[in-house]
Amino acid sequence: MIKAIGTMALMAGLGMPAAAQDKGTVGISMPTKSSARWISDGESMVEQFEEAGYATDLQYAEDDIPNQLAQIENMITKGVDALVIASIDGTTLSNALENAAAMDIPVIAYDRLIRESENVSYYATFDNFQVGVQQAESLVEGLEERFPDVEPWNVELFGGSPDDNNAYFFYDGAMSVLDPLIEEGKVDIVSGQMGMDTVGTLRWDGAVAQSRMDNLLSANYTDKQVHGVLSPYDGLSIGILSSLKGVGYGSGDMEMPIVTGQDAEVPSVKSILAGEQYSTIFKDTRELARVTVGMVEALLEGTEPEINDTETYDNGVKVVPSYLLSPVPVNATNYEDVLVGSGYSTEDQIK
Ligand code: BGC
Repeated sequence: MIKAIGTMALMAGLGMPAAAQDKGTVGISMPTKSSARWISDGESMVEQFEEAGYATDLQYAEDDIPNQLAQIENMITKGVDALVIASIDGTTLSNALENAAAMDIPVIAYDRLIRESENVSYYATFDNFQVGVQQAESLVEGLEERFPDVEPWNVELFGGSPDDNNAYFFYDGAMSVLDPLIEEGKVDIVSGQMGMDTVGTLRWDGAVAQSRMDNLLSANYTDKQVHGVLSPYDGLSIGILSSLKGVGYGSGDMEMPIVTGQDAEVPSVKSILAGEQYSTIFKDTRELARVTVGMVEALLEGTEPEINDTETYDNGVKVVPSYLLSPVPVNATNYEDVLVGSGYSTEDQIK
């Protein structure tokens, strides 16, 4: 026993994998490298799958749907033992997944639900409704802090990509907090633009959010001040903040509106520390990788993966058994504890 521990410690010390990579190959299909979070997801999975004895084939599709389809088809042809997919468009993979099923390749939907297919074995994600609740709660907290005597607060809403199932969960979670305040007259959506079909941002593109914010400002705020912007993702928040700064918010007596976010990406954490973005939501991608690796291992070893939700994620064909992790809201008061304390970011990266 002592000898075994000694050998393992020695192997770890030499940076060698703890087990030979002979348990099979896992195909990992990620949407894009344009956002740091997906790079972390990929790195964590490769590391953890390798530690568990699996080889990996990690591909990024640069937000191009045919590209992602071709990468997945290619993995199936090469005969991977399992597929982990964070889809670009959750509805376009049905045919590819039929091919996977025909070859008995289990499929894990990673972070984003794969819709309209029965060939999705499990879903590893965060509590996406709760992400939206936390975004809106933090928006309101910021409004109370920065604009305590204002009523109503002038607010604009942004949604995520309409082809990403998560975007609806984030939006619905947020509106569960904001709708009652709108009804009470405490929050005014000045543009009147509401609903995912109106406020969605295709492919989560920051430039699209920036130009929509430009338009919102010029059409509705020439004689009014905007106090808050619900943004579902850090990459959109950066675009929204550029637009706001472009017309003078954050300088002189024009207070910066409260702008939310998601993913705790480095540029946004820096922006929070600089007093521009107000908050983000931290989702520990190392944990999501851990859950996913556990699911794949269980499936390939013929045991039951651990799940904690069998109701929420109906993909249009079936309810996909899921494991939901908890998101954590982050602002200038707790980033140190949450991000640096957990080892997700280093002080050097964010300062
Ligand atoms: C993820 C978010 C991310 C967004 C944009 C969503 O599906 O859940 O964490 O901010 O995609 O990449």
